[in-house]
Amino acid sequence: MTSAAPDSAILQLQGASFGYADRAVVKDLDLRVEPSEVIAVLGPNGSGKSTLVRGLLGLNGHLEGTVRVLGEDLAHLKDRYRLGYVPQRHTLSASVRATVEEIVAIGRLPHQSWFARRSALDDQLVRESLELVGLSDRAREDVSTLSGGQQRRVLIARALAAQPRVLIMDEPTAGVDEASQIVLADVLHRLVERGTTMLIVTHELAALRDLVTRIVVISGGRLRFDGDPTSYAERRAADEIAHAHGGHHHDDELPTRRGTPTGALGPVDHLGAS
Ligand code: ADP
Repeated sequence: MTSAAPDSAILQLQGASFGYADRAVVKDLDLRVEPSEVIAVLGPNGSGKSTLVRGLLGLNGHLEGTVRVLGEDLAHLKDRYRLGYVPQRHTLSASVRATVEEIVAIGRLPHQSWFARRSALDDQLVRESLELVGLSDRAREDVSTLSGGQQRRVLIARALAAQPRVLIMDEPTAGVDEASQIVLADVLHRLVERGTTMLIVTHELAALRDLVTRIVVISGGRLRFDGDPTSYAERRAADEIAHAHGGHHHDDELPTRRGTPTGALGPVDHLGAS
């Protein structure tokens, strides 16, 4: 806990569990996200990162404990679009016949009545969001003609158009080539400069290392680490030394470059410290 006023937190989780039907996947999580923090959520496959993210968005079960968004209880949240979401698998299949700006304008829908035309503010936010992700010149194009990395940026723009208080991203750089990763990291940098609070689930910390202010590691559904990137790098280095000396695996051990049996974060995860 920090000494900040309780309502300054964007997200506040206390003893929170998330999961499905009768099974808790993420258990007993305490987490407080302050404005302008950029948090990378790391952990092996199947450790519950997506379950946590989807739980925060109210898309699947929040089972226990307290979850507050801007001081409001998640269950009674009036405006869910204060939580911006960029899903892991882009949903812009080839069959979608829509222009880039039409997709981004979907982000404004929760703010419009059913019969309302787009307002000047809607148009302005769509324009600004496209500018932020560097796709202004593609606004009128069919979204299916864009590359995977560009479509990822369209989805970021769609989330931004709703003016979210926090942007929650599930693997924003996964499955795109290195050049697109660099462009995406650049977009995220621009968001950091604007003070955007972000929670980013990622396997590719190296691509984001300059912008992350805090690292949270979830493994086996439990919080294993919560700290700044420097302490994370130190902790990983210490774990690797322990490995080199034949140390045993502990359940609360961080995933290392060497890899845990549960499938670790892989070689690109480390902070690039040489
Ligand atoms: P991660 O995002 O860290 O890879 P997930 O949150 O996707 O992990 O998965 C965590 C656990 O939750 C896994 O054991 C997975 O099988 C289970 N799980 C994921 N989605 C569902 C679902 N819709 N129903 C039931 N169990 C699920």
